[in-house]
Amino acid sequence: MSNAQITNGFHANPKPLNTEKRWILAVIGRDILVPDGGGPSSAVLIDHETADQLKFFCERRLLLGQWQGVDCQVWALSEDARAASDFSAMELRSLLAKSGDEEFTMVCRAVQLLDWQDKHQYCGSCGTQMSSSVTEHAMRCEPCDINNYPRISPCVIVVVTRGDHCLLARQPNWPDGMFSTLAGFIEAGESAEQALHREVYEEVGVEITNIRYVGSQSWPYPGQLMLGFIADAVTEEIVVDGVEISEAHWCRYDDLPHYVPPPTIMSGRLIKHFVDQASAQQ
Ligand SMILES: [Zn+2]
Repeated sequence: MSNAQITNGFHANPKPLNTEKRWILAVIGRDILVPDGGGPSSAVLIDHETADQLKFFCERRLLLGQWQGVDCQVWALSEDARAASDFSAMELRSLLAKSGDEEFTMVCRAVQLLDWQDKHQYCGSCGTQMSSSVTEHAMRCEPCDINNYPRISPCVIVVVTRGDHCLLARQPNWPDGMFSTLAGFIEAGESAEQALHREVYEEVGVEITNIRYVGSQSWPYPGQLMLGFIADAVTEEIVVDGVEISEAHWCRYDDLPHYVPPPTIMSGRLIKHFVDQASAQQ
């Protein structure tokens, strides 16, 4: 990574630079506490002097990396911090939908690191209580002499296309009118391509070919890495599994459902990728 990239945005460096200033990202449960009116250099970050009033609520803190070359910490705050004046708690999903790439990365990292540390207090091998490594983001078991690193689960997500139509589906628990692309976890031993063939066939009974990679994105529910693809359908008939998917349709690029995800998140980016391609071919 070049210096320009490091100083312009977020750098996920586990080692502190011990800068004079510090940025604080404040997390309460699954919400982010943001300064009313936005912070001086980012909508989600609080400068350390302003954050001083929140330190009494701080239960845990971790270094996230650097924002514009300045050390950036995440503070896990108690529920009482919701009452702090001049701040508002924002729900994670709606915040991510509005965030640019750099803030998206930073917020995902903060939530994932806290969640991972919460759930990895004891060694899975010998049961000893582990401690945070002082040199990197790892939970250390001394008797086993091993470091456990944050767990990331790779997932595939795909927009399946058939000419100027794409396949959009909804899960049973989603709000009415909401449709998105298909997605699923990569199983142990599978390649991303194998997972795509399996997931699409299991969920909607469609066979696919000509898989192309589009991009990837972190997704903190709790630690997914979404690998985004576009693929062509070989078969047309849709047979929903009725469990993960309750409804699915072939949608023309200029006649999409009322609610599809925004392009700031991977599913929306894939849909936009398809729409742009289909529009250009008309
Ligand atoms: Zn152990």
